[in-house]
Amino acid sequence: MKRSPLRARPPADRRSEPGYVAWHAPVYGECAVCGKRDRLVRHHVVLQQHVRALGADPWDLRNSILIGSGFACSCHRSHHVACRRLPLDKVPDAAIVFAVLLLGEERAQDYLGRYYLR
Ligand SMILES: [Zn+2]
Ligand SMILES: [Zn+2]
Repeated sequence: MKRSPLRARPPADRRSEPGYVAWHAPVYGECAVCGKRDRLVRHHVVLQQHVRALGADPWDLRNSILIGSGFACSCHRSHHVACRRLPLDKVPDAAIVFAVLLLGEERAQDYLGRYYLR
């Protein structure tokens, strides 16, 4: 069987989407998980692809938790790389409300229970 050469698919360019810039605006402060000061990144509480699949705004700021980007703490990296889940009690209320509005009460509870540590 002949294999077609592996082609790296360029990441979709989201930069022109409304809300992208605000979501990625640099913030410096305390990591919501461990409290260390760092440059912060917004993590999608409901994963971006799931928000998109439901036709909602992937850059809704309510659906975010600000966590250290990796200089002072490894909370964000370990969540994604080592699958060490973030504690649910650190997730901002606004993000929980967003998840409930998006998924409904029951599915939101399931979802958050699956991706975050209770
Ligand atoms: Zn941290
Ligand atoms: Zn993340």
